[in-house]
Amino acid sequence: MANKCISCNNCGHTGWSKNRGNFLITIVLAIFFFIPAVIYEIWRRTGLGVCENCGSDLVQPSNSCTSNRPSDAGDFIVLGVLGFIGSIVVVVIYAFFNTLINGGPSTQKTTKDYELICMTQGLKHYQQQGQYPMLPNGVETSTHVMGVCKKSKDGKFKAP
Ligand SMILES: [Zn+2]
Repeated sequence: MANKCISCNNCGHTGWSKNRGNFLITIVLAIFFFIPAVIYEIWRRTGLGVCENCGSDLVQPSNSCTSNRPSDAGDFIVLGVLGFIGSIVVVVIYAFFNTLINGGPSTQKTTKDYELICMTQGLKHYQQQGQYPMLPNGVETSTHVMGVCKKSKDGKFKAP
């Protein structure tokens, strides 16, 4: 972890170090590549950190810090943000693969679609037989076809 007491070889400052790198980079990484973002964030916290005064990493451990060590509150914010982005990434990936496996919501046919396809075929069938708009037994052809096609699961009209 950073937040170590260091003295800087670059500017001579003695104080608590900051995490190296930039948290904004972690955010951008997390949106596109979640795992590298976590690795990057871990890397930021390893080592001595950088000088809080000039940002240089030419620092060496020191024990002459006079002020109190800064709190770790920032770490909880980082974990919260990463966790939040992580959950979004998981949901998006899940939705993506779900769409991939089911062939997408646009190509998925509902019972209503199958009923329509079935009825189109049925009406065509009776038109060819000259039994439209009335069947020989006096029933309206469209009413009969509608009944046969109700709850159709494959969209195929089966002539009786
Ligand atoms: Zn410095």
